[in-house]
This record gives sequence, C-alpha cells and structure tokens, in this order.
Amino acid sequence: MVRIGIDLGGTNIVAGVVNEQNEIIAKAECKTNLPRPADAIIEDMARVTEQAVEKAGLTMDDVQYVGAGCPGTCNLETGIIEYSSNFGFKEVPLQKILSERLGKPVYIENDANAAALGETIAGAAKGAKSALCITLGTGVGGGIIIDGKIYGGFNFAGAELGHIVIVEGGEPCPCGRKGCWEAYASATGLIRQTKTAIEAFPDSPMAKIAKEYGKVSGRTAFDAMRQGDPIGKAVVDRYIGYLACGLVNIINIFQPEVLCIGGGICHEGDTLIKPLEAYIERERYSKYSKNQTRLCVATLGNDAGIIGAACLGA
Ligand SMILES: [Zn+2]
Repeated sequence: MVRIGIDLGGTNIVAGVVNEQNEIIAKAECKTNLPRPADAIIEDMARVTEQAVEKAGLTMDDVQYVGAGCPGTCNLETGIIEYSSNFGFKEVPLQKILSERLGKPVYIENDANAAALGETIAGAAKGAKSALCITLGTGVGGGIIIDGKIYGGFNFAGAELGHIVIVEGGEPCPCGRKGCWEAYASATGLIRQTKTAIEAFPDSPMAKIAKEYGKVSGRTAFDAMRQGDPIGKAVVDRYIGYLACGLVNIINIFQPEVLCIGGGICHEGDTLIKPLEAYIERERYSKYSKNQTRLCVATLGNDAGIIGAACLGA
C-alpha cells in the first residue's frame, strides 16, 4: 500500500505518492491561485491526488490514506483548519470534505510541522529521536519533533518558533509583536537589512552588486562579502548574529538531538554554518554537557512536507 502526502502551499498544491520506504514515487501539482474559496482549493487537492496516483501506475484502491500539510492552525481532533491568514481560511472542515471526496481516511497537520516530521523521518534529521526544524524563507517556520512525534501544543497552534522576540520593542511583525526572530532571521529580514545598508552606503561594492542584478536578494550581502566589501561583511555578520541568537534560545529550551535549518539562505553552506556553529558553541547553556545538539542543513527541500504528510496516519 502507498500513502499520499499533500503540500498545500501559497503558490502550489503538490500531491506525492509515498511508498513504504518513505520515498516519493510520483508527484502531481497545480497552482494554488489565491485568493479562492476553500471548496475550489479542496477539489484541486483531490484532483492532484488522483493525478499523482495515476502517474504512479496505481489506483485509489492502492492508497491507504491521505495526509495534508496545510498553512495555519489545524485542529487534529476535529480535522478543521481553524484559521489561516494567508489563505483567508476560517473553520474549514478539510478532513471531512476531502475524505468524502476521495473515499479515504484523511489526516491534517500544520505544514511546517509536517515538513519537520518529513525531515526527521527521511531527511537530514533521520534517526533522531528529538529534532527541531527551522525554515528560513519569507518568514521563519518551525516544527518540534519529540520522540518521533510532532509537538504542536494542546491547542494545535504550535510551534511558531519564528515569533519568539529577540529584540524587545524591535521591528514590527505581522503577528502583532515587535522584535520577533522572524523579522530579523528570515530572508525578508536579511533583504531589509541589506537595503538599509545600501541606502547608508550608496557607493559600496554591495550597492553596485544590487544595481547590477536589478534587485536586492538574500545573496546580495554574501556576494559583497566574498568580493571583500566590509559593508557586506557587516550585514552578514549582523544577520548571522540574529539567526544564531534565536537558535541558541531554542537549543537552551529543547536541547534537541538535531537542529535542522532549511531555506534558500542555506545554499551559502559553510559561509553560514561555520560562524553559526561557533556562536552556538560559545553561548549555549549546555557547554559542559557530554552530548551536544547537531546543527545540520535540511536535505529534502519541498519534499519534506509531502513525506511528512504521508506519515501522519502512521
Ligand atoms: Zn511575530
């Protein structure tokens, strides 16, 4: 028997057929095209599921169950997406509608939590009993795995690791707080910090790089630093400080076996990882413990959410 994992993203809806070795054997996808009513989106989730099953050369009879990673707060007991700001969802009974449509049991979970489970089952954190997975993108997503299971809190609203405050009274965050880790350590945060430095130093090599590419990206400051620009280096150093500060906070609370970070910025490799490790080693509370949290880079990318969703009914 195979299982289906669906990743309901803001840009794409992707369904994957996952075998018993937790490998994706076929995928199908379509655009999410927000904003749209929940019913239309759920119908597309069913449609891409059927397409993926067909691509795998199977029928729905071969499918054990369907798991879906969805944005927002997913109540695992009722199968309802209680709230999703990006999707404009409020009280959407996803589990019931999708299960009736496909004739299969359906499990739902928050997408970042599903991705953390996927990375722990089949990716960089494979084999770890406890893991924290952080994704650095538009925001900072996070998932907590304890004893191989997702910890989402008693009301399923966890784990919003991006919304721990690292600068009291700092940058405003869409969540309503000020100084959230997400506002500093996300790709969006890095781009903002880069733009501010370019405005202050319009003749710097970093400003020239931004002009050449016609835009500022998460790479701009790293590229400037590699060309020997002290302004670029200052932005990178500061960004790594913000990122590391939050990482040490969560290591101090959870002391996970593995701390896995993902997202486009991780393509910087050792340029990012080495200074992070040095900061963590210097500041973590567990300096004198025999065993230390292992920092690693996520390996599954977008497939993590699909594999994790396909494991929700296990
Ligand atoms: Zn926030």
